[in-house]
Amino acid sequence: MAGAPDVIVIGAGLVGTMTALGLVEAGASVTLIEAAFPGGGSTGAAMGHIVAMDDSPAQLALCAHSRKRWGQLAASLPSSGEVDRCGTLWIAADDAELDAGRGRLAGYANHHVNAEAVDARALYQLEPQLRPGLAGALHVPGDAVCYPPAIARALTDRAAASGRCVMLRARVQALAPQAVHLSDGATMRADAIVVAAGVASPDLVPGLPIVPRKGHLVISDRHPGMVRHQLVELGYLQSAHTFGAASVAFNVQPRRTGQVLIGSSRELVGCNMQINRELLGAMLRRATDFLPALRRVRALRTWVGFRPATPDKLPLIGRWPAIDGVWIAAGHEGLGITMATGTADLIVAGILGRQPPINADPFLPDRPMPAMAHAG
Ligand SMILES: Cc1cc2nc3c(=O)[nH]c(=O)nc-3n(C[C@H](O)[C@H](O)[C@H](O)COP(=O)(O)OP(=O)(O)OC[C@H]3O[C@@H](n4cnc5c(N)ncnc54)[C@H](O)[C@@H]3O)c2cc1C
Repeated sequence: MAGAPDVIVIGAGLVGTMTALGLVEAGASVTLIEAAFPGGGSTGAAMGHIVAMDDSPAQLALCAHSRKRWGQLAASLPSSGEVDRCGTLWIAADDAELDAGRGRLAGYANHHVNAEAVDARALYQLEPQLRPGLAGALHVPGDAVCYPPAIARALTDRAAASGRCVMLRARVQALAPQAVHLSDGATMRADAIVVAAGVASPDLVPGLPIVPRKGHLVISDRHPGMVRHQLVELGYLQSAHTFGAASVAFNVQPRRTGQVLIGSSRELVGCNMQINRELLGAMLRRATDFLPALRRVRALRTWVGFRPATPDKLPLIGRWPAIDGVWIAAGHEGLGITMATGTADLIVAGILGRQPPINADPFLPDRPMPAMAHAG
């Protein structure tokens, strides 16, 4: 690989498009291969919360770095990307939860994430529509929300406008050392190949520990001002962390349109697109329990999407030693929108042999991993 590398990026979700743009800006020549259209995979099904999640030190390190990079990127994005820095309120139902929330402050401070615990009075000033009797919240003002599929399109266009990125609509059938075989029989070669195919990544890299973790979302008609922050129950972390039974958690988001985006559910049922009415009902009951005003709101659409989940809850980012020239950027579960910026930085640093912005070791794709949960 003399001079600037030629790189193939497979998948134009937010992770692939962010990585393609990062590579182009670092001087590489990129072919971005997408079987359908930019942002049409999990990226188009996501909530778009850009969040400093702190389930583990490595997760928080990547989220905090990624969130900082989102802050630098946001001003250059078109308004269709709808990046709004509304902040997150992690809602504490009782004093024990509020204490647990306070326990997260030191970790945030270590990563320069501004956060504070607010009492019930302050919480109801910030969000008057929440049900009475809550204890308070953890307020993280620097978190944001965005509209991911529009950003994936904008990044694709920007990379193409550089003259160093070609977008190819094709399906990759198989990988070979420094080469990809397309479903039309063609073979393309490159110095490096980045697999950013989301939940489909194991189809190309057998043995990659990623399973689809299904989620439902509901979007309402327009009620501007009903909520002002991303509202998440503190119990959400438990729902996201536990890999077994189906779960729901209160998680709602204000959209720039005045709509309320309502989540969230998790279940391991493979790539089954059917609405699970029972789970959806439980999710909506959870939402109206925390936010009774939602009972007056009409649901316009419901959809499902698939989070690319790994057994240890961390993404797979880095070289895949089993196939020469292959790099992985996948497995971000419910944080792929947030972590797309940091993932791009790690992949660019790896391929160009630069110092990574944070410790990359916890994300190495061939790290030891707990046994994979199976779709139930
Ligand atoms: C309900 C729900 C809510 C979520 N909310 C959030 C949130 O609030 N915040 C957050 O950070 N994350 C959230 N996520 C997670 C986020 O959506 C994913 O982690 C992220 O979109 C993964 O992006 P990706 O680019 O890796 O994959 P994708 O967006 O799935 O992109 C992969 C692309 O690869 C293409 N592809 C696949 N196979 C091939 C092939 N063989 N050849 C060519 N192309 C191929 C696909 O067509 C697709 O376009 C949510 C997910 C769900 C389901």
